[in-house]
Amino acid sequence: MSTENFSLSFSEALEKAGAGEKPAVDWLVPLLTCSREDESRLFGAADKVREACVGKAVHLRGLIEFSNHCRKNCAYCGLRRDNLEVERYRLEIDALVQTALEAKSLGYHSVVLQSGEDPWYTPERLAEAIREIKAKTELAITLSVGERDENTYRLWREAGADRFLLRIETTDEELFARLHPDDDLSERMDCLRSLKKLDYQLGSGVMVGLPGQTPEMLAKDIIWLKELGAEMIGVGPFISHPDTPLSGEKGGTVEQTLRLVAVLRLVFPYAHLPATTALGSLDDRGREKALETGANVMMPNVTPIDNRAKYQIYPGKICLADDARHCRGCIEGRIKSIGRTMGTDRGDVHRK
Ligand code: SAH
Ligand code: SF4
Repeated sequence: MSTENFSLSFSEALEKAGAGEKPAVDWLVPLLTCSREDESRLFGAADKVREACVGKAVHLRGLIEFSNHCRKNCAYCGLRRDNLEVERYRLEIDALVQTALEAKSLGYHSVVLQSGEDPWYTPERLAEAIREIKAKTELAITLSVGERDENTYRLWREAGADRFLLRIETTDEELFARLHPDDDLSERMDCLRSLKKLDYQLGSGVMVGLPGQTPEMLAKDIIWLKELGAEMIGVGPFISHPDTPLSGEKGGTVEQTLRLVAVLRLVFPYAHLPATTALGSLDDRGREKALETGANVMMPNVTPIDNRAKYQIYPGKICLADDARHCRGCIEGRIKSIGRTMGTDRGDVHRK
């Protein structure tokens, strides 16, 4: 067990956060573990910082899940290579570009190209797709395709990719090793540093409620993300998938996740924080709640309908039967229902 001193009260901790102090375990933990009564003060503080620093706009990114093939075996993920229950699919280059054009025609200014670690998508093939999308649209492109070497990341950056999302998942060495049989924490950290060096707008994040994860670990994750200079931070509850080694494990909760979102907004006033689909899958109003506790981004699904159900990184994922146009309308309604506005531009990160 750690020896840190967590004797700070909630109020003292909130004061430190409000003063913009460098994040430290001793005040992050009381915030991450605060009581129901204190929660509303934490959420209120985060909402105020969100309003002052990044405003009312909610930026939309059209999410294209273009391949569920994966060479990795992450213990938590339904797409892991040993899960033989998954019917695998892949949108090849033309279909991927076509889907991005559909996102454009639905009014999105930004797309996220996400997949398992699919070796069919060689560096050059994905570069070709990026170049085509860039030649035909002004869409901002975010990649979320896992770990590759620095030269590959460079090629994609030069092809026109603007942003990259690679969650660190956890910075706890032992927990990371337990969850990633074919991965190495320091290599993943190096990937993120390479992406930073290549001047991608950098996204990372963690899962909440992983088996064996403690609030101290989450606090250390926040400190690490701050040192890294993450500009977009996606956090969602871990949801146990029945066809994985973590079947039957307890998952993360909405409350835990909302507290983390709120703390992140206090520590990263200008960052882009998505209200994640995993949160919407646990609670119909999960995403709206996140938008009211610091989040300012949503990622509606634009994956072709035939493939949606096959991209189940976790079970119970929402919007599997809804086409992209429906999702767009639904999200717009949700944003307006809480008095927020839709972002009208690419929603680039604020670099202050
Ligand atoms: N292969 C890429 C992108 C797809 S996975 C990658 O790994 O980066 C995208 C994210 O889904 C992962 O970063 C992980 O945080 C999340 N995820 C995977 N399995 C999950 C589960 N069971 N519950 C909640 N989130 C999960
Ligand atoms: Fe593959 Fe990403 Fe799932 Fe890991 S989290 S198994 S890399 S899709």
